[in-house]
Amino acid sequence: GATIGMVGGGQLGRMFALAAMSMGYRVAVLTKSKREPAAQVVESVFVGSLDDASVVSEFASQCDVITLEFENIPAETIRRCGESCPTFPSHRVLATAQDRLIEKQTFRDAGLPVTPFAAVASTEDVIRFAETAGWPVIVKTARSGYDGKGQHRLEDASQAREVPWDSSAAWIAEQFIPFDREVSVVVARSAVGEVRCFPPFENDHSNHILDVSFCPSTLSAEVAEQALAIATRAAETIDLTGVLCVELFVINEQELMINEVAPRPHNSGHLTIEACPTSQFEQHVRAVCGLPLGDCDLRVGGAAMANLLGDLWDRQGNAPDWTGVLRTPTVSLHLYGKSDAKPGRKMGHLTATAADAERARGRVLAARGALEAPIPGVVTDSGR
Ligand code: ATP
Ligand code: MG
Ligand code: MG
Repeated sequence: GATIGMVGGGQLGRMFALAAMSMGYRVAVLTKSKREPAAQVVESVFVGSLDDASVVSEFASQCDVITLEFENIPAETIRRCGESCPTFPSHRVLATAQDRLIEKQTFRDAGLPVTPFAAVASTEDVIRFAETAGWPVIVKTARSGYDGKGQHRLEDASQAREVPWDSSAAWIAEQFIPFDREVSVVVARSAVGEVRCFPPFENDHSNHILDVSFCPSTLSAEVAEQALAIATRAAETIDLTGVLCVELFVINEQELMINEVAPRPHNSGHLTIEACPTSQFEQHVRAVCGLPLGDCDLRVGGAAMANLLGDLWDRQGNAPDWTGVLRTPTVSLHLYGKSDAKPGRKMGHLTATAADAERARGRVLAARGALEAPIPGVVTDSGR
């Protein structure tokens, strides 16, 4: 059978590999350590730095098609992979999606709604931006942030002086959007141009980290339709092959703005494993392999996913007792095989299905909530 190369060894790569293998593919993982979540589930692992040209070429020579699970991979590595075999998303997509400034400019130029932003390099630049955008302002590093890392919410000019300006990094200022809710759309575009979207997922964050996602969202049918149209145009604008998650803010229950995109499966789409005929991971396999895309409709009334952060593990690194979770009807447990639990680290997730989203959400939160109290030594002050 054909071999799919996966650059990156995290949980997204692991769930992708499991989907690909059940479709008959072999998967080779390029990662920095054999203990990474994706490396544990495949036979073929290439260990090395992602910018080590010799490891990258050796890996690429074993693959028929290459993809990735994380956008903060050197674009040069992906360009090099593309010289030996088809590589999706391309290094051009990656270069766009790994820089918030280029990403927002690209979508704004295409007429898509994005949060008002400006490139900034100093306190004075932020103050000038706030003259038109108003306070608060969110300042982010343009590159390599995730889970809210590298972000500062500034209420006024005096706080802008406290940003640790680092002239070697590029920075972006964004207007603070007082959104009603956050949704995301995972869209797949195949090598032959077929496009399909999962229905929007609604997302609750806690401490800037995704906490809970559910589906169907509370969007009206009309706004949900607009969200799918934006995601589709975003994928076409960057000429994506693979899957793309488009994170959106919902304002006044009717206006949508793109927050950011990720050219890969997304944490908010994990519930598709149980809730849809085709999971986002299988869809990614289909898209990069040029296969027909799968059915994205919900096959249940509602589904919800809750992240399991390292905060639930005790100080010795012991996992919680899963008995209660396993006893809860329709709740599925997914663990990523990470041994070093740390507060804020994504260790796994739970998914529940039910007659509607609200019931599914209640069920998954009850199952997770029951994990917390009885375990001694657990730190429970984040991730909720
Ligand atoms: P990840 O890649 O893990 O989703 P990230 O570090 O790339 O996170 P963002 O998605 O840009 O960060 O921001 C994280 C969260 O912070 C958003 O989902 C939203 O809740 C909040 N946030 C970010 N930018 C803004 C903004 N301009 N206005 C209001 N809230 C914001
Ligand atoms: Mg991000
Ligand atoms: Mg985000």
